[in-house]
Amino acid sequence: VLVGRGVLVGNRPHGELGEFAAIERIRASLAAHVRSRSPGEGEVWIGDDAAVLVTRGGQLLLSTDLTVAGVHLDLGLAGVDDLGWRALVTAVSDIAAMGGRPGEATVAVAGPPATNLDLLYDGIGAAAEEHMCAVVGGDLSTAAQLVVCVSVTGFVDGSPHAVLRSGARSGDRVYVTGPLGAASAGLRSLRAVAMGSGARAPQGGVGSGRAPETMDANLVTSHLRPRARIAEGEAARRAGVTAMIDVSDGLAADLTHIAETSGVGFSLDHVPVADGADLDDALGGGEDYELVMTVADDDALLEEFDSADLRRPLLIGSCSDDPGLRTFRGQRLPALGFEHPWT
Ligand SMILES: [Mg+2]
Repeated sequence: VLVGRGVLVGNRPHGELGEFAAIERIRASLAAHVRSRSPGEGEVWIGDDAAVLVTRGGQLLLSTDLTVAGVHLDLGLAGVDDLGWRALVTAVSDIAAMGGRPGEATVAVAGPPATNLDLLYDGIGAAAEEHMCAVVGGDLSTAAQLVVCVSVTGFVDGSPHAVLRSGARSGDRVYVTGPLGAASAGLRSLRAVAMGSGARAPQGGVGSGRAPETMDANLVTSHLRPRARIAEGEAARRAGVTAMIDVSDGLAADLTHIAETSGVGFSLDHVPVADGADLDDALGGGEDYELVMTVADDDALLEEFDSADLRRPLLIGSCSDDPGLRTFRGQRLPALGFEHPWT
């Protein structure tokens, strides 16, 4: 849920612009400049949730994520500790989306000199403890705006290997680990209360993931204190899912990433909507950090989640061999979801 300066994926001027075109240009530029090393056997560099590197000890996952005040979280509505929590969780969620377990993180912070670093690191530390990801280093700089960059390693125990976005095949079924849209609805709830009160919340916001009593606490917590689905990602990998991604940009946009890298289309029949959210939140809101996966063997998937004592994933649709097919209940899927507007 970008709180500022995002554009709807469907509203970008044309295919040459925007975040995803920029990533592709960067990938090509780096490949042209850096000739001394290129992706080795079994490695995946730019283009998935996390990079997959091959070391003597096996596969190493590596992911990095930015959280920018005013873009990803509004500090008029959220606490600095919430921003720290989010920064750690988004990075860890990308490891979960590969079916990995987080290892260690480094945290780089740039922000105004008056930034409450103690509160920021309260949030970072709480998320690190919750997700069992130690913070082992970082960097600090002053800057005009608060930016937190978290890089995290991840590991894949045993086999099979890390789950990529590119493995979905025609006929695979699409599952999601839980109802969607709560984070988006939570942001809307926070905004409504802030506007209703006639003033923005004081600097520091509501803080600590707590919602005023007039709001739906579950929705607000989904926005301020999301959780990465590490156990679910590992169970999905063990069950042999063919592709996986975390819902960060919105279900429609994130599933499109799987479809484009896998060369398949998809049709959705049922999208589970979180209590208090609506269908647009569920399809386009993003930042719920549920995992979306494609699988050939449904029974193996459900059995693996059962034996890990996890809530069963929900069937939402299937993949087709027509790469242009993107439907919801038979209708062309609306272009929802967010992308940073690079020009
Ligand atoms: Mg991701």
